[in-house]
Amino acid sequence: MSAPDRRNHAAPKALVLPAEPLAEPGTELPLVFKAPKRNKPAPHWIDLTPDERRAAVTELGLPAFRAGQMGKHYFGRFETDPSTWTDLPADLRATVTEKWFPNLLTQVSQQRCDGDTTVKNLWRLHDGSLVESVLMRYGVRPARAGEAELGSEADSGEAGRTGTHQRVRSTLCISSQAGCGMACPFCATGQGGLQRNMSTGEIISQVLEAEKLLASGALPGGPGRVNNIVFMGMGEPMANYKAVMAAVRTLVAPPPDGIGMSARGITVSTVGLVPRIQQLTTEGLPVTLALSLHAPDDELRDELVPINTRYKVDEVLDAAWEYAKQTKRRVSIEYIMIKDINDQAERARLLAKRLKARGDWGWVHVNLIPLNPTPGSKWTASRKADEREFVRVLESYQIPVTVRDTRGQEIDGACGQLAASERDLVAAQP
Ligand code: SF4
Repeated sequence: MSAPDRRNHAAPKALVLPAEPLAEPGTELPLVFKAPKRNKPAPHWIDLTPDERRAAVTELGLPAFRAGQMGKHYFGRFETDPSTWTDLPADLRATVTEKWFPNLLTQVSQQRCDGDTTVKNLWRLHDGSLVESVLMRYGVRPARAGEAELGSEADSGEAGRTGTHQRVRSTLCISSQAGCGMACPFCATGQGGLQRNMSTGEIISQVLEAEKLLASGALPGGPGRVNNIVFMGMGEPMANYKAVMAAVRTLVAPPPDGIGMSARGITVSTVGLVPRIQQLTTEGLPVTLALSLHAPDDELRDELVPINTRYKVDEVLDAAWEYAKQTKRRVSIEYIMIKDINDQAERARLLAKRLKARGDWGWVHVNLIPLNPTPGSKWTASRKADEREFVRVLESYQIPVTVRDTRGQEIDGACGQLAASERDLVAAQP
């Protein structure tokens, strides 16, 4: 593994910049790093460390071993209603519920598409903030119109047959903030600004709800578990670092302390908060880092991803490279393909050179994402021919590249769109 080689970092002259600023004049939003402190949710069992949970039950007059029993119900079997915990004295269940298990998420709506293999939930938090999560199932036969009972035996059987070719997997995309302060002009969430950070309890509750849905067998493919978690819903996870890291630790801790997922199944994304990437490098958690780059040159990235005005392309790539080097985890470079904005072959070449300059040891993978435009957006996805050429150029430099499947397009115009349209709806009400 060699140190980054900067010889190829000079931007070529032929890069095309948009004729007009990307944000409408007068509409540029400020970058917001500090979330308002107001409107925190009530403390929840999930927010406590294992030691604090034991202390919490002893405060209620219960022996410490009850914490383990409760954790087995809650994290091990996804029984999130303490009134069903029959091994807990009946008179204490209500006390426990009131003290440590307040409701954190209220479902506002659920939309399904792709034959019910994509499920998008919009949640209301206790203060009215809206966040969303999307569950995607792979390797199953999607339900067809007119199939009344999802997850029926017949359906599971069919899924089993298709599963001989592809394992059934479930990926959950979750939010980490209500809104976002990173102000990316192509993103619905960014345009709404940052309301507040989500608590660890609120973050993990999205996972528990998905686990309950999957365990119920109500989706095509029959009962299952969440295999992968991606922090790519609303918000910039690294701007809510403490709560996100506590959530990751809860995800990987085995029951009764957590859900017991593999860290390798967890992806934490960032637009490039360099100090937090450096901090993540030291955590000893082999999660996948996904860097939302979206442009390989500072000139365009300053506009497309405003955090770039603070941390430049070379700085974020160096931090990502160091992450890969220390953790031995391949970094994913996320690149939204926007027609005539960032999709030119010359930018593919510059991206390839900047990645190659940091070594050839398989440290990086590029994930191209066709833009799913927000309503009224002046931008749209790249032409297929331009997308193919972008892929070809990257591959000619031996950079591994995939084009992300655009699951949930019917319901997911872009991250934050569902919450944004719900906000519009609420605002329009007298
Ligand atoms: S793209 Fe991500 S980081 Fe940028 S504003 Fe949207 S949610 Fe925030």
